[in-house]
Amino acid sequence: MLLRKSTVLVTGGGGFIGSHLCEKLLNDGHDVICVDNFYTGSKNNIRHLISSPGFELIRHDITWPLYLEADAIYNLACPASPIHYQRDPIQTAKTSVIGAINMLGMAKRLKIPILQSSTSEVYGDPKVHPQTEEYWGNVNPIGPRSCYDEGKRCAETLFFDYHRQLGINIKVVRIFNTYGPRMQPDDGRVVSNFIVQALKNEDITIYGNGSQTRSFCFIDDLIEGLVKMMDTPPGVTGPINLGNPGEFSVKQLAEMIVELTGSKSKIVYHPLPQDDPVQRKPNISKAIEILDWKPSVQLKEGLEKTIEYFRELLAHL
Ligand code: UDP
Repeated sequence: MLLRKSTVLVTGGGGFIGSHLCEKLLNDGHDVICVDNFYTGSKNNIRHLISSPGFELIRHDITWPLYLEADAIYNLACPASPIHYQRDPIQTAKTSVIGAINMLGMAKRLKIPILQSSTSEVYGDPKVHPQTEEYWGNVNPIGPRSCYDEGKRCAETLFFDYHRQLGINIKVVRIFNTYGPRMQPDDGRVVSNFIVQALKNEDITIYGNGSQTRSFCFIDDLIEGLVKMMDTPPGVTGPINLGNPGEFSVKQLAEMIVELTGSKSKIVYHPLPQDDPVQRKPNISKAIEILDWKPSVQLKEGLEKTIEYFRELLAHL
């Protein structure tokens, strides 16, 4: 449980999710130390926070040791979109694994809670649907997604071993596809790709036949879930799924975005990337029961806000 004014370390604080979290923590009255190496994060995401007296920014790569004083850690640092995490897969695995060891070491030295942003990718191409936390997943250990999937799985292993062996107060959440303002226009993700393509009246690129499904959670909902998880008493370790259980095919998403933007784009089909999961949808019973959390933003409403953001962004590029 965070005291009213704590100093909170957010690794990956310059990223899409991290920057929203830094903002929320500052608004809640905490001091924030944002650590980012800006491999995929951006200073533009946090520029508006720099002048806040409670905000500190450190450019640092968490695969290297870091010695700071803080009251809690949110470990978010890692490239998360497939094109970004596959660009330098060795570094992705190092960030997940060595980064986790460094941050767990800090949590151990300071005796503070640490939250790990794990991912629905730990379920791989799931054979259990919707995915519950008990499911062990179906992950290729040697494919192009493995650096991220297995890196994040190993990080979970480390978190639970530090908890069992050393009594560290860990909080593990598995984040499902999240979208909203401050996604990067070129991060290759389906929501940002389709919106940018639609706004430019360019072809909408569906990979495969578009029947694969995802469940999309709006950023504000996710941030609330992260904060609620950190606020649980010691002993509540997770893993807990955080995501919106509304399930949509990629084709449905494309059609929705074309309609909401009033775009003249047409849909084109490209080959499906290797190991692309066929279906994904969180079972969030645990989050509802333990965190009293469930998402409240419907896809259409969240997409409208995200489209607005990209419209502004593209107008100023
Ligand atoms: N996708 C697509 N067109 C794009 C980008 C992604 O059809 O321009 C598909 C992708 O193949 C996957 C889904 O959309 O099936 C979600 O992809 P994303 O990269 O957003 O996240 P993932 O859930 O795969 O990590």
